[in-house]
Amino acid sequence: MNALILAAHDGQQLDASTACVVTAARSLAAGGQVHILVVGHGVAAVADQAATLAGVSAVLTADAPAFAALNAETLSRQVAALAAPYAWILATHNLQARAALPRAAALAGAAYLSDVTRTSPDALERPAYAGAVVTRVQPIATSTFLTVRASAFQAAPTAATAAPVQDVPPVEADVRTSILGREGSTSTRPDLGRARIVVAGGRGVGSAENMAKVEHLADHLGAAVGASRAAVDAGFASNSVQIGQTGKVVAPDLYVALGISGAIQHLAGIKDAKCIVAINRDPDAPIFQIADYGIVGDLFDALPSLESGLPAAAA
Ligand SMILES: Cc1cc2nc3c(=O)[nH]c(=O)nc-3n(C[C@H](O)[C@H](O)[C@H](O)COP(=O)(O)OP(=O)(O)OC[C@H]3O[C@@H](n4cnc5c(N)ncnc54)[C@H](O)[C@@H]3O)c2cc1C
Repeated sequence: MNALILAAHDGQQLDASTACVVTAARSLAAGGQVHILVVGHGVAAVADQAATLAGVSAVLTADAPAFAALNAETLSRQVAALAAPYAWILATHNLQARAALPRAAALAGAAYLSDVTRTSPDALERPAYAGAVVTRVQPIATSTFLTVRASAFQAAPTAATAAPVQDVPPVEADVRTSILGREGSTSTRPDLGRARIVVAGGRGVGSAENMAKVEHLADHLGAAVGASRAAVDAGFASNSVQIGQTGKVVAPDLYVALGISGAIQHLAGIKDAKCIVAINRDPDAPIFQIADYGIVGDLFDALPSLESGLPAAAA
């Protein structure tokens, strides 16, 4: 029951989510080997980082100049080409893997499951209907491809000794589409997916100018900024910070929801938050049904006292 993990990385750094996928892979492999596959160009440093994760027996590197800007078709070919000896092929549930792993599973004639939140050798759990239902799935195929919700798993620690790194032959690139460039949003704030505190604004914030007040509280707390889809659609915040079913899934220790009603599609993105604080002037807003602490009132009245009452993040 060996497992292969497709590493998430930006070419230089291994994404922290990969350590969480290792934990999922180890529970599935149940004593079998866990390997990590790093695909890209000039990714030796990423492979070295992957090799330090506890529980990893080997790191495979598929490195080629054509992989500098990897499209999903090429990545899926590479994963499928190596998949045969593995019962489980896993990756972080990110955009790249969501595009590549179903293709790879199809190429390998295998099953694919997305957004897995719990693993055991006999059943996997994944949310459905925006998290309103948890489905338990028993894979019967000889190999199963899955993307994993990293925040649902503890990160594997660092090992005392690094696993061996070995090159594997790169596949021929699929050139039917080519990636011309990527433009990422740059922010000095913590990454939403990993932030310990998230302060999010909804339609109730009222304007992009008012969103600056939400950001001010976030900066005071050293938090990431999030938004509901209504706030994004209204232009108060960028699409990259949308939280929910069609946005990002967050799992902070503290989630502060300001002027957010708590629609089921929004709640799908905050189910793993440990403590939810909501400010809403509507006492019947659904967000209060899941909030640990709630303030019924105008968020602009509450914001100054919240900011002065809460300790500032260490600089
Ligand atoms: C397929 C699909 C996918 C979706 N995906 C997502 C998703 O990923 N993320 C997401 O967020 N939504 C998503 N939605 C939209 C979702 O259904 C809701 O429309 C949206 O979450 C509402 O955002 P909101 O809470 O900011 O706005 P509203 O529902 O309009 O709520 C605004 C709240 O602000 C309060 N308020 C107003 N003024 C103040 C004030 N001054 N002080 C305090 N409170 C105030 C109001 O009482 C109200 O409760 C999706 C919908 C569909 C159909």
